[in-house]
Amino acid sequence: MRRWIVALVMTTAWSPAYAWGPEGHAIVAEIAQRRLSATALAEVKRILGGEVSMASVASWADDVRYAQHPESYNWHFVDIPLADDKYDPVSECAANSGGDCAVAEIDRAEHEITCAAEPGTRRDSLRYLIHIVGDLHQPFHTVADNTGENTLTVTVKFGGLIKSPPKVPADNLHAVWDSTIIKQTTYAWGSYVDRLEGDWLLKHPEASQTLDPTAWALEAHTLAQEMARRPGRRITA
Ligand SMILES: [Zn+2]
Repeated sequence: MRRWIVALVMTTAWSPAYAWGPEGHAIVAEIAQRRLSATALAEVKRILGGEVSMASVASWADDVRYAQHPESYNWHFVDIPLADDKYDPVSECAANSGGDCAVAEIDRAEHEITCAAEPGTRRDSLRYLIHIVGDLHQPFHTVADNTGENTLTVTVKFGGLIKSPPKVPADNLHAVWDSTIIKQTTYAWGSYVDRLEGDWLLKHPEASQTLDPTAWALEAHTLAQEMARRPGRRITA
C-alpha cells in the first residue's frame, strides 16, 4: 500500500460503496483458508455443505444485506470516531433495527457455528464470519467519520505495481480501499493473493497471531488514522 500516494479532496459526494468488493472478500477468505489445518478445512466444508471454498461464499453477506436481512446491516462495520484510540462497545456497538456491529457479530457467529441447532443457521453463521472478519480488516470499516470515509473523495496517483497504461481514478477513500487498489493492480483476485503471499505476508508473520476481534478492529482503526493523517495528502475545500 505504501507505493501509492493518495491526494484527498474534501467533498460531499455520495457513494453507495460500503464494503470490500467481492475481490477483496475473496482475497481475505482465500488467505484464511490456506492457513486452516486439514481437520478445520474438512469441518468448514461440512458446515458449508460440500466442496465449497471460503472465497466462493465470502460475499454472500453482502448479497443478503439489504433485502433479505436488513437486521444484519450494521454487522459489517464498527463506528469508532477517527480521533479515538479505543473501542467503546456501549456507544459504538449499540443495537438498533440494523443490528449492532462487526465485533459483536463475530463473537455471535463463532458461538452459533458450533451451538446453533439448525445446520442452515450454522452455515449462515460461518458465511457471516468469513465475510465480517474481512470487513473488520478494512480500515475504514472501523471509522465513524464521514460514514466510514465514504463521503471523502480522493484522487489516487499510482506508482510501482500498476496495470498499463496508468490510470488516475477519482473515488471516495472507502471505495479506494474496497476495490480500486485491488482492481488497478491485478486482473484476477487470485493474482492479488499470490502477490500478498509472496511479499507482505512473508514480512508480517505476526499479522495472524491474535484471535481478538477488538484487537483486529483497533489495528485496522490505527491504519485508518495513519491514512487520514498521511503527509502528502492534499486537501482542498
Ligand atoms: Zn460487508
